[in-house]
Amino acid sequence: MSARVLVVDDVLPNVKLLEARLTAEYFDVTVAHSGPEALAKASADPPDIVLLDVMMPGMDGFEVCRRLKAEPRTRHIPVVMVTALSAAEDRVRGLECGADDFLTKPVRDLALYARIRSLVRLKMLADEWRLRSDTSERFGMREDALAGERDIPTQGARVCVVDELPGLARALEKALAADGAMVELAGDGASARASAESERCDAVLVNTLMRKTDGLRLCAELRSSERARHVPLLAVLDDGDDKRLAKALDLGVTDYLLTPIEPNELVARVRTQIRRKRYMDALRANYERNMALALTDALTGLHNRRYMEAHLVGLVRRAAQSRRPLALLMVDIDEFKSVNDTHGHMVGDEVLRVVANRLQRNLRPFDTVARWGGEEFLVVMPEADRKIGLMVGERLRAKVAESAIPVEGKAEGLPITISVGVAAAEEGIEDMPGLIRAADEALYRAKQNGRNRVEGSL
Ligand code: GH3
Ligand code: MG
Ligand code: MG
Repeated sequence: MSARVLVVDDVLPNVKLLEARLTAEYFDVTVAHSGPEALAKASADPPDIVLLDVMMPGMDGFEVCRRLKAEPRTRHIPVVMVTALSAAEDRVRGLECGADDFLTKPVRDLALYARIRSLVRLKMLADEWRLRSDTSERFGMREDALAGERDIPTQGARVCVVDELPGLARALEKALAADGAMVELAGDGASARASAESERCDAVLVNTLMRKTDGLRLCAELRSSERARHVPLLAVLDDGDDKRLAKALDLGVTDYLLTPIEPNELVARVRTQIRRKRYMDALRANYERNMALALTDALTGLHNRRYMEAHLVGLVRRAAQSRRPLALLMVDIDEFKSVNDTHGHMVGDEVLRVVANRLQRNLRPFDTVARWGGEEFLVVMPEADRKIGLMVGERLRAKVAESAIPVEGKAEGLPITISVGVAAAEEGIEDMPGLIRAADEALYRAKQNGRNRVEGSL
């Protein structure tokens, strides 16, 4: 991975030095000598990360950072402020402007490279989810784009602090009290894992300076846990121990604090991580919701044909392996064209919705029904043989014919019937297209034989 780094500093030797060091590490470096130049370059060709000097004439680094984070095109780029300022207020100010980290000059190589790699990795993960979420939105399901990460509230967050002493947890609890956040203290690895893996955990803070528990090992375990790996992980480390810091970042720690811990910085960093978690969760949920919509038939709310085709692949594989039966029902509304012709399309649509609903209500939860075509539905029933298929087909037919469908402008409703073709694989299906064809042929015979009927395949 050759990350693209934008280095911003008004002092030429500083720029040259950083550029040379980063280039030697195979980073791809661009430079800017002022705030406005940095904004222009970041917007024209967004880099993977910005290393930003704080003190510059004209527009200072805080302002540049604020503007980068306010702009949709650049707000996702991680920003590391690099400065001679070392006071905690300055660090907190930087974090509040949206900076992802704050390194003090002279910047030590190991920490810098590890931090760049870690932030770029996090950015790429977020980019991937953003792309998927955007792609899924192109199905036209949602118009409102997600807000940026920094606008997300941290209300009601749950943070797990892993430490042998209660001091850090208490400080955090006090500071986050206004957010209604819950801070849990975990005293050892087992309770830390349990807490981090619980569904509602928003961030984990591990003191790696504990005596009995190996904090870095715990961080590594949390990163490889299926259920905890999305949870932000902050590590407390000794200032000056660059080797352990680099190790922690390479293990996948998302942020860190150096001793002695400054309470405001602690809170600023934890809040940032909570926001990031919630932003990523929102992207993922948006993607999943859109994918679900893309696989749903908008008129009836049933699965659509695209979903069913994908679903059938898995069903065939499972049934073939287990040699269990599987039944298929092809359902078609009778004389539906005349419903449209006589009562209009709106009434036709309503009939489709009601029939879909009657079908769904009269199936078992693990049967799947999809809208296969215009007024055609396909039902798949795992574990059902031909006899059961015919029986269910008859039940569906009866349930649809049982009562007229109430529609606009026709008080007594419309009598609607369906025809059903049934095909079954008795000992595990291997040929799904063949089975679908068989159900289609049976349906054709049901139509031939007078409609409002169920026929099995020959
Ligand atoms: P049969 O008993 O032989 O099945 O006759 P049919 O009239 O039901 O069959 P045909 O295939 O001739 O007509 C199907 C009609 O379904 C034609 C089409 O306009 C209508 N249709 C398909 N999709 C929709 C839809 O989404 N809404 C409405 N209102 N009508 C639809
Ligand atoms: Mg029809
Ligand atoms: Mg038809």
